[in-house]
Amino acid sequence: MSNTLVLDRIESNLTRLRLSRIREILEHIVKAAEKQDKSHLSFLDELLEEEVAHKEQRRVETALKISGLPFIKSIDEFDFTFQPKLDRQKVMSLFDLTFIQQKGNVIFLGPPGVGKTHLAVSLALKACQFGMSIYFTNMEDLTKKLKKDHEAGRPGRGRSYYKSSLVVVDEVGYTPIDREECNLFFRFVANRYEKASTVITSNKAFSDWAELLHDPIIVTAILDRLLHHSVVINIKGNSYRLRCKVEENEVNELQKIN
Ligand code: ADP
Ligand code: MG
Repeated sequence: MSNTLVLDRIESNLTRLRLSRIREILEHIVKAAEKQDKSHLSFLDELLEEEVAHKEQRRVETALKISGLPFIKSIDEFDFTFQPKLDRQKVMSLFDLTFIQQKGNVIFLGPPGVGKTHLAVSLALKACQFGMSIYFTNMEDLTKKLKKDHEAGRPGRGRSYYKSSLVVVDEVGYTPIDREECNLFFRFVANRYEKASTVITSNKAFSDWAELLHDPIIVTAILDRLLHHSVVINIKGNSYRLRCKVEENEVNELQKIN
């Protein structure tokens, strides 16, 4: 059989097997392998490595698209020097993702702009790259979804917000919720307790949660489960969003003095 016919057949088989990356690079790699006199084994290895890497990249891209992440930022983009009071080692130790294997939780507390969402996003990103299922939502959105599923008589267990290995609930405590919503949030937390990890961000201290979430007894039960296996990171510092403003003010102050 001529080389062209063989190549045609290989290409159609690669299409059937959905090995699109190999199909793309086949000719190039065959030529390179002939030139470099590569062994059959290393030639095959190179092809498969390329295909697997490509499929892995596609998996991460798709998972990130449907994860609900508000932006994609990694921990490498987080400037720890801007938050000198933040325990860098404690934060960095989360990124080995042991807490997810142990079904533990992480809670980021602090005023607006200190990087709570950024840290939560970068944890989710790392988990996704590691092959874990992730889902990002905020309290307002989660409450709506929980209510909708409850009213439709569906407990929501098939939903991403229940079953993902890591669920981020951003902005707990920004807007008050009523008693029914609080109950639903309790069920959400109780369902994930010791089964899967939840990352929470909040601008309110735990002592203020009772007032915001309406029912002190349920709030105690929520915190009991959330905090049992958890790492709490309380960020005390300036808003990164306002950093330029701070610098501007400092410059203005200096100009006044001079
Ligand atoms: P929060 O959720 O605490 O209100 P965000 O995480 O949304 O704050 O941070 C606001 C913006 O500032 C985001 O774009 C985030 O990436 C950025 N940011 C915050 N802290 C830092 C930091 N220490 N280094 C780099 N970027 C930061
Ligand atoms: Mg935020």
